[in-house]
Amino acid sequence: MELGTRSGGFVFLGLLALVILVEAGWLIWRRRQAYPWKEAVASMGVAVIKRLVDAATAGIAAGVLFWVYDHRLWTLEIDGPWMGLAFFLLLELAYYWHHRWAHEIRWLWATHGVHHSPNHMNLSVAGRLGWTGLLSGSVLFFAPLGLIGFHPIVIFLGLAVSLFYQIWIHTETIGRLGPLEWVFNTPAHHRVHHGSNPEYIDKNYGGVLIIYDRLFGTFAEERAPVRYGLVTPLKSNNPFVIAFFEWAAMARDVLRAESVRDIVLYLFGRPGWRPAPKRARE
Ligand SMILES: [Zn+2]
Ligand SMILES: [Zn+2]
Repeated sequence: MELGTRSGGFVFLGLLALVILVEAGWLIWRRRQAYPWKEAVASMGVAVIKRLVDAATAGIAAGVLFWVYDHRLWTLEIDGPWMGLAFFLLLELAYYWHHRWAHEIRWLWATHGVHHSPNHMNLSVAGRLGWTGLLSGSVLFFAPLGLIGFHPIVIFLGLAVSLFYQIWIHTETIGRLGPLEWVFNTPAHHRVHHGSNPEYIDKNYGGVLIIYDRLFGTFAEERAPVRYGLVTPLKSNNPFVIAFFEWAAMARDVLRAESVRDIVLYLFGRPGWRPAPKRARE
């Protein structure tokens, strides 16, 4: 997620580096597999710079949430398990729709596509998150939670828990997990989410839970082997190219656009949208 507390962000980086090395060791020495070091180091580079960007800009996202909270409709405190559960389910709902729109609207995809750019699946992918969440407006998706009366600190903490949870689902070393797969987002479900196979595209948007995908019709089971990465694979291991490839592509499209309608759709249409080809002239 784009939001995180300052110190929590650096704990996240330390933990991530540790589990990446453990997984890499396991794959190399126990499974005798090759490990995509360059890609993993690039992801870690993206993660480190993202932490710095977040540390510099967290005040702006917090400011938005606090402003909304100041205009809240009610005051909701997590004073028992039922309120805790209600908050968790609402946070997951907001997460689901933020993530889904991040795939369906190019302005948000420009940030989120970064996370989908690795061509292999391992724990390092969890750190490859876009730097431009503030520009994409991610905080607005969580503002309704503040509007109905949840405190911004509670929202930030909830998102941090979700971020930590999602580390372990970026791996090929864990198979199916039985009944847990009914309710929770698991490695198998999330491998599907990172697939560019046609049947896997735009599936399994959940954060901690998978129930909203089942509810809103975006759930897919892992069946065929997953082809990871973008439909048009990104080859670069330069963190700056990785962080801005879609913004750059969007700028190129806008500069070439032939109408205001095309500009709007290049910015806010589906990623990959193109104007219909003109009829051949006679
Ligand atoms: Zn995604
Ligand atoms: Zn992921």
